[in-house]
Amino acid sequence: MSRTGTLYTVSAPSGAGKTSLVAALVERTEDLRVSVSHTTREKRSEEVHGVNYHFVGEDDFLAMLEDAAFLEHAKVFGNLYGTSQAWVEEQLEAGIDVILEIDWQGAAQVKRLLPETRAIFILPPSRLTLLQRLTARGQDDSTTIESRMAEAVEEMSHYVESDFLVVNEDFDKALAELQAIVSCHRLATDKQRQTLEALLNKLFS
Ligand code: 5GP
Repeated sequence: MSRTGTLYTVSAPSGAGKTSLVAALVERTEDLRVSVSHTTREKRSEEVHGVNYHFVGEDDFLAMLEDAAFLEHAKVFGNLYGTSQAWVEEQLEAGIDVILEIDWQGAAQVKRLLPETRAIFILPPSRLTLLQRLTARGQDDSTTIESRMAEAVEEMSHYVESDFLVVNEDFDKALAELQAIVSCHRLATDKQRQTLEALLNKLFS
Protein backbone atom coordinates (compact mmCIF):
# COMPACT_ATOMS: atom_id res chain seq x y z
CA MET A 1 0.00 0.00 0.00
CA SER A 2 1.79 3.16 -1.13
CA ARG A 3 0.88 6.61 0.07
CA THR A 4 -1.61 8.50 -2.08
CA GLY A 5 -1.38 12.26 -2.15
CA THR A 6 -3.84 14.70 -0.65
CA LEU A 7 -5.63 17.16 -2.91
CA TYR A 8 -6.03 20.75 -1.68
CA THR A 9 -7.92 23.62 -3.22
CA VAL A 10 -6.82 27.13 -2.30
CA SER A 11 -9.29 29.90 -3.11
CA ALA A 12 -9.19 33.60 -2.38
CA PRO A 13 -10.30 36.89 -3.87
CA SER A 14 -7.78 38.54 -6.25
CA GLY A 15 -5.23 40.45 -4.19
CA ALA A 16 -5.44 38.28 -1.07
CA GLY A 17 -1.89 37.08 -1.72
CA LYS A 18 -2.82 33.52 -2.62
CA THR A 19 -0.28 32.98 -5.40
CA SER A 20 2.73 34.22 -3.36
CA LEU A 21 1.65 32.19 -0.33
CA VAL A 22 1.18 29.01 -2.36
CA ALA A 23 4.55 29.51 -4.11
CA ALA A 24 6.32 29.90 -0.74
CA LEU A 25 4.50 26.88 0.68
CA VAL A 26 5.45 24.66 -2.28
CA GLU A 27 9.07 25.84 -2.13
CA ARG A 28 9.36 24.85 1.55
CA THR A 29 7.43 21.56 1.42
CA GLU A 30 8.63 18.25 0.03
CA ASP A 31 6.28 16.28 -2.21
CA LEU A 32 3.84 19.15 -2.70
CA ARG A 33 3.14 20.58 -6.14
CA VAL A 34 0.83 23.20 -7.55
CA SER A 35 -1.18 22.46 -10.66
CA VAL A 36 -0.66 24.73 -13.69
CA SER A 37 -4.10 25.53 -15.09
CA HIS A 38 -5.13 26.06 -18.68
CA THR A 39 -6.69 29.43 -19.41
CA THR A 40 -8.02 31.45 -22.33
CA ARG A 41 -6.99 34.69 -20.53
CA GLU A 42 -4.38 36.94 -22.16
CA LYS A 43 -0.88 36.36 -20.77
CA ARG A 44 0.33 39.22 -18.53
CA SER A 45 3.80 40.56 -19.35
CA GLU A 46 5.56 38.92 -16.39
CA GLU A 47 3.86 35.55 -16.83
CA VAL A 48 5.50 32.55 -18.45
CA HIS A 49 3.62 30.00 -20.56
CA GLY A 50 3.71 26.60 -18.86
CA VAL A 51 4.79 28.10 -15.53
CA ASN A 52 1.94 30.40 -14.44
CA TYR A 53 -0.61 28.96 -16.84
CA HIS A 54 -0.89 27.04 -20.07
CA PHE A 55 -2.28 29.87 -22.22
CA VAL A 56 -4.57 28.43 -24.88
CA GLY A 57 -7.11 29.71 -27.39
CA GLU A 58 -10.81 29.24 -26.76
CA ASP A 59 -11.10 26.57 -29.50
CA ASP A 60 -8.32 24.50 -27.92
CA PHE A 61 -9.84 24.91 -24.47
CA LEU A 62 -13.27 23.78 -25.72
CA ALA A 63 -11.69 20.80 -27.51
CA MET A 64 -10.01 19.75 -24.23
CA LEU A 65 -13.34 20.18 -22.44
CA GLU A 66 -14.98 17.95 -25.04
CA ASP A 67 -12.26 15.33 -24.43
CA ALA A 68 -13.03 15.42 -20.68
CA ALA A 69 -9.46 16.61 -20.01
CA PHE A 70 -10.49 18.83 -17.10
CA LEU A 71 -11.10 17.77 -13.52
CA GLU A 72 -12.95 21.06 -13.12
CA HIS A 73 -13.38 24.23 -15.13
CA ALA A 74 -15.02 27.61 -14.71
CA LYS A 75 -15.49 30.99 -16.33
CA VAL A 76 -13.87 33.69 -14.18
CA PHE A 77 -13.91 37.38 -15.22
CA GLY A 78 -15.01 36.30 -18.71
CA ASN A 79 -12.10 33.88 -19.24
CA LEU A 80 -12.11 30.09 -19.11
CA TYR A 81 -9.90 28.23 -16.63
CA GLY A 82 -9.46 24.48 -16.17
CA THR A 83 -7.41 21.93 -14.23
CA SER A 84 -5.82 18.98 -16.03
CA GLN A 85 -7.33 15.78 -14.67
CA ALA A 86 -4.52 13.50 -15.94
CA TRP A 87 -1.75 15.56 -14.29
CA VAL A 88 -3.54 15.71 -10.93
CA GLU A 89 -4.27 11.95 -10.93
CA GLU A 90 -0.67 11.15 -11.82
CA GLN A 91 0.69 13.20 -8.89
CA LEU A 92 -1.76 11.84 -6.34
CA GLU A 93 -1.05 8.25 -7.40
CA ALA A 94 2.69 8.94 -7.02
CA GLY A 95 2.10 10.08 -3.43
CA ILE A 96 2.54 13.78 -4.19
CA ASP A 97 0.19 16.27 -2.53
CA VAL A 98 -1.37 18.69 -5.01
CA ILE A 99 -2.63 22.25 -4.65
CA LEU A 100 -5.20 23.67 -7.03
CA GLU A 101 -5.26 27.45 -6.94
CA ILE A 102 -8.78 27.86 -8.23
CA ASP A 103 -11.91 29.94 -7.72
CA TRP A 104 -14.85 28.91 -5.51
CA GLN A 105 -16.81 27.43 -8.43
CA GLY A 106 -13.94 25.09 -9.28
CA ALA A 107 -13.36 24.23 -5.61
CA ALA A 108 -17.03 23.26 -5.27
CA GLN A 109 -16.82 21.01 -8.36
CA VAL A 110 -13.70 19.26 -7.06
CA LYS A 111 -15.23 18.73 -3.62
CA ARG A 112 -18.33 17.15 -5.20
CA LEU A 113 -16.19 14.79 -7.29
CA LEU A 114 -13.56 14.05 -4.64
CA PRO A 115 -15.07 14.71 -1.18
CA GLU A 116 -11.76 13.97 0.59
CA THR A 117 -10.30 17.15 -0.96
CA ARG A 118 -9.35 19.75 1.66
CA ALA A 119 -10.56 23.24 0.77
CA ILE A 120 -8.56 26.20 2.05
CA PHE A 121 -9.77 29.79 1.82
CA ILE A 122 -7.48 32.79 2.18
CA LEU A 123 -8.99 36.09 3.31
CA PRO A 124 -7.42 39.56 3.35
CA PRO A 125 -7.40 41.39 6.71
CA SER A 126 -9.69 44.14 5.33
CA ARG A 127 -11.36 45.43 2.18
CA LEU A 128 -8.93 48.35 2.14
CA THR A 129 -5.91 46.02 2.12
CA LEU A 130 -7.46 44.13 -0.76
CA LEU A 131 -7.94 47.32 -2.78
CA GLN A 132 -4.39 48.47 -2.00
CA ARG A 133 -2.96 45.11 -3.06
CA LEU A 134 -4.99 45.07 -6.28
CA THR A 135 -3.81 48.58 -7.13
CA ALA A 136 -0.17 47.94 -6.17
CA ARG A 137 0.12 44.97 -8.50
CA GLY A 138 -0.10 47.45 -11.39
CA GLN A 139 -1.17 44.62 -13.67
CA ASP A 140 -4.70 45.71 -14.40
CA ASP A 141 -6.38 48.98 -15.40
CA SER A 142 -8.80 50.80 -13.06
CA THR A 143 -11.96 49.35 -14.67
CA THR A 144 -10.59 45.85 -14.17
CA ILE A 145 -9.64 46.65 -10.57
CA GLU A 146 -13.13 47.99 -9.87
CA SER A 147 -14.82 44.90 -11.25
CA ARG A 148 -12.33 42.65 -9.44
CA MET A 149 -13.11 44.45 -6.17
CA ALA A 150 -16.84 43.78 -6.62
CA GLU A 151 -16.14 40.17 -7.58
CA ALA A 152 -13.81 39.83 -4.58
CA VAL A 153 -16.62 40.45 -2.13
CA GLU A 154 -18.75 37.82 -3.89
CA GLU A 155 -15.82 35.36 -3.98
CA MET A 156 -15.12 35.94 -0.27
CA SER A 157 -18.68 35.04 0.68
CA HIS A 158 -17.87 31.45 -0.29
CA TYR A 159 -15.43 31.04 2.60
CA VAL A 160 -18.20 29.09 4.37
CA GLU A 161 -17.71 26.18 1.94
CA SER A 162 -14.06 25.72 2.93
CA ASP A 163 -12.48 23.43 5.53
CA PHE A 164 -9.73 25.87 6.58
CA LEU A 165 -9.65 29.63 6.80
CA VAL A 166 -6.38 31.59 6.75
CA VAL A 167 -6.14 35.40 7.03
CA ASN A 168 -3.19 36.88 5.17
CA GLU A 169 -2.36 39.89 7.34
CA ASP A 170 1.17 38.80 8.15
CA PHE A 171 2.70 36.74 5.31
CA ASP A 172 4.93 34.57 7.53
CA LYS A 173 2.10 33.78 9.92
CA ALA A 174 -0.25 32.85 7.05
CA LEU A 175 2.52 30.70 5.53
CA ALA A 176 3.10 28.92 8.86
CA GLU A 177 -0.63 28.23 9.08
CA LEU A 178 -0.66 26.71 5.59
CA GLN A 179 2.36 24.56 6.52
CA ALA A 180 0.50 23.42 9.64
CA ILE A 181 -2.53 22.35 7.57
CA VAL A 182 -0.34 20.21 5.28
CA SER A 183 1.63 18.72 8.20
CA CYS A 184 -1.53 17.92 10.09
CA HIS A 185 -2.89 15.95 7.13
CA ARG A 186 0.32 14.05 6.67
CA LEU A 187 0.22 13.02 10.34
CA ALA A 188 -3.36 11.74 10.22
CA THR A 189 -3.49 8.03 11.03
CA ASP A 190 -4.92 6.95 7.67
CA LYS A 191 -2.03 8.69 5.84
CA GLN A 192 0.58 7.52 8.34
CA ARG A 193 -0.57 3.92 7.92
CA GLN A 194 0.48 4.27 4.28
CA THR A 195 3.66 6.29 4.90
CA LEU A 196 4.84 4.12 7.81
CA GLU A 197 3.82 0.77 6.34
CA ALA A 198 7.32 -0.74 6.71
CA LEU A 199 7.67 0.41 10.34
CA LEU A 200 4.20 -0.77 11.30
CA ASN A 201 4.86 -4.16 9.70
CA LYS A 202 8.08 -4.50 11.71
CA LEU A 203 6.50 -3.34 14.96
CA PHE A 204 3.72 -5.88 14.72
CA SER A 205 5.36 -8.83 12.97
P1 5GP B 1 -5.94 35.21 -12.59
O1 5GP B 1 -6.40 35.34 -14.01
O2 5GP B 1 -5.93 36.52 -11.88
O3 5GP B 1 -4.63 34.47 -12.48
O4 5GP B 1 -7.01 34.30 -11.83
C1 5GP B 1 -8.37 34.66 -11.77
C2 5GP B 1 -9.12 33.65 -10.95
O5 5GP B 1 -9.19 32.39 -11.63
C3 5GP B 1 -8.49 33.35 -9.59
O6 5GP B 1 -9.53 33.28 -8.61
C4 5GP B 1 -7.89 31.98 -9.78
O7 5GP B 1 -7.80 31.25 -8.59
C5 5GP B 1 -8.89 31.36 -10.72
N1 5GP B 1 -8.33 30.19 -11.42
C6 5GP B 1 -7.08 30.01 -11.88
N2 5GP B 1 -6.94 28.80 -12.44
C7 5GP B 1 -8.14 28.18 -12.31
C8 5GP B 1 -8.63 26.90 -12.68
O8 5GP B 1 -7.96 26.04 -13.24
N3 5GP B 1 -9.93 26.63 -12.37
C9 5GP B 1 -10.74 27.53 -11.74
N4 5GP B 1 -11.99 27.16 -11.46
N5 5GP B 1 -10.32 28.75 -11.37
C10 5GP B 1 -9.03 29.07 -11.66
